Amino acid sequence: MLSIDLTGKRAFVAGVGDDRGYGWAIVRALVQAGAAVRVGTWPPMLNIFTKSLERGKFDLSLPGGGKIEFEKIHPMDATFDVPEDVPEEIREDKRYRELSGYTIQEVADTLRDELGDGCLDILVHALANGPEVRKPLVDTSRAGYLAAVSVSAYSMVSLVQRFGPLMREGGSAVSLTYLAGERVVPGYGGGMSSAKAALESDTRTLAYEAGRRWGLRVNTISAGPLASRAAKAIGTIDRMVDYYRANSALPDVNTAEDVGNVAAFLCSPLSAAITGETLHVDMGYHIMGMPAEDQLGGG
Ligand code: NAD
Repeated sequence: MLSIDLTGKRAFVAGVGDDRGYGWAIVRALVQAGAAVRVGTWPPMLNIFTKSLERGKFDLSLPGGGKIEFEKIHPMDATFDVPEDVPEEIREDKRYRELSGYTIQEVADTLRDELGDGCLDILVHALANGPEVRKPLVDTSRAGYLAAVSVSAYSMVSLVQRFGPLMREGGSAVSLTYLAGERVVPGYGGGMSSAKAALESDTRTLAYEAGRRWGLRVNTISAGPLASRAAKAIGTIDRMVDYYRANSALPDVNTAEDVGNVAAFLCSPLSAAITGETLHVDMGYHIMGMPAEDQLGGG
């Protein structure tokens, strides 16, 4: 029987801070397939995330038995590559001052110290942030634009650069993108559309460069809408979910589980010849050139 078997593999999933987002769904699928999983959690979310886990607030059960267990939860802020990048006000912030080792390089170093070289098979980037996401691009400040691109796109370059040397042969890296990187989605502003376009372009270039350097595959999943914490910040997510359901090629909207399963496939040997790809997991919404609901309305 052909199945996704990640037994003996280790994954690092950056961008898990609750049980509502794509990162969590990807963790679930990877653990279900047998992988050991470490996560990187944004320091402002760390306390509430670990407390919620301790208090049993999340459903950790897996279909067919077993439950989600994390090998380790690392604090990680994808804005910073090395300790020298962290400004004083962040260092002293109450959500950061008890923590150490949360820059991307330090997290990679911690993995190397604890597990040695060649300790990782799977790298997942499931994070984004655009402080001005509610502003149209035309009204976005330079600082807002650069912050969106820094956290949401450059962070993937930095992760591959710094975690690449830890990856075993046959490794796979996956990020999450959105259709607004290739088509106009009103409301997805603040430079977030630019960040997703950069992420998709970088997926191709990184696939070549990291493929030649470490044998690493790099792909991105262009996911349909999900009412995650981050998406709620945009403000229109519930309407988008309904719109997708009404207008996709398949008359439905994807679930977080759909995306988790495709991520597990992209991280498995079954996809060994796929790299540099932007793979849409959106019930075929992206192929439509006209809203289906108009056609339905017209009989
Ligand atoms: P989410 O809120 O579950 O995930 C975003 C995560 O990013 C959070 O855990 C947050 O703490 C983390 N984060 C923010 N800034 C960070 C930083 N500086 N350093 C480290 N972590 C940071 O929401 P989500 O919607 O599941 O987002 C996951 C990915 O999926 C993002 O790349 C997002 O753009 C993408 N995506 C989401 C949708 C959607 O509709 N929800 C659609 C397509 C793509």
